Amino acid sequence: MEYFIPDYYDKFQCLASNCPDSCCKEWEVDIDEETAEYYRSLPGKLGDRIRKVLKDTSDGTLMTIKDGRCPMWRQDGLCEIQAQLGHGALSKVCQEFPRLRHEYGDFTELGLELSCPEAARLILTEPYKMQTQSVPGHGEVEYDTQAMATLRRSREVLLAFLERSAFSVPQTLAVMLLYAHAVQSELDGGPKAQLSPEVCLADARSYAEDGDIASVIDYFKELEILTAQWQSRLDAGAVSFAWSCQHLALAKYGICRYWFQAVSDYDLVCRAKFIIISCIIVCALGGNTVETAQLFSKEIENDPDNVEAILDAAYTSSAFTDVQLLSLLLNS
Ligand code: SF4
Repeated sequence: MEYFIPDYYDKFQCLASNCPDSCCKEWEVDIDEETAEYYRSLPGKLGDRIRKVLKDTSDGTLMTIKDGRCPMWRQDGLCEIQAQLGHGALSKVCQEFPRLRHEYGDFTELGLELSCPEAARLILTEPYKMQTQSVPGHGEVEYDTQAMATLRRSREVLLAFLERSAFSVPQTLAVMLLYAHAVQSELDGGPKAQLSPEVCLADARSYAEDGDIASVIDYFKELEILTAQWQSRLDAGAVSFAWSCQHLALAKYGICRYWFQAVSDYDLVCRAKFIIISCIIVCALGGNTVETAQLFSKEIENDPDNVEAILDAAYTSSAFTDVQLLSLLLNS
């Protein structure tokens, strides 16, 4: 069994009481059924306290929010359950966050979620490097091997290009979009995708017109919004685009997280566009890139409905046509 692990994965350490945000702020934390059962049977005052704030819904059990936070959160920034009962007493989501794990049967990818401020700092500021570790044993292959071979090869080609690209960041992303179309064509039974950056960039330039960033921001205003902070950033609108290597790091993170997911439905282009849209909105909103990206992730990536909406909109919304994205990348 192979594990693919970004270098920053092992560097992560929770900031705990020094965290500028918190993983239990604004979210109704999911409590898995096994942990919910444990909490329901827990004796004593802590058990009584937890039971008062558990909420059963048709989607499962949640911790209710009080004053914008999980009610188990203490003034010192620590979790009451963890403090009294230890890490093992936390629900699965609390134990794992912000660690990501995608299992494909014969290999597993590990990563960190951008919605955690410390993970966002590592993802966007540490040099990108992926290690491979092999451990004895192997699971059953759970995917279309031909499609995965295409995705693995193309992701490697693309990440290598992003590492060495002499183009500007938005030009590099424009090339990525056209390459994703070529890989999509290969997934659909077409010829093997080749990456010719100069050709892709010339094509991208020929498609680009005037970009309309206001329509992108208006689209985000229609999605579910969690925090007042995100709402005010969207209301403030775009600042002038100032691309940096952190936006490229954001694209690498997206490629590592979403590229292989296309094996489930053979739809790569919408995921490539999602990654590019992420970079455009984070760049357009300006501010500190790590903070803006973390806020974006908390609002969008951690809400499956928002992610699904954008994946659909990648094909249906005039805010996200290929021409519009290429125009925003090359003419803004
Ligand atoms: S958001 Fe990240 S750094 Fe902050 S408390 Fe949660 S895991 Fe720790």
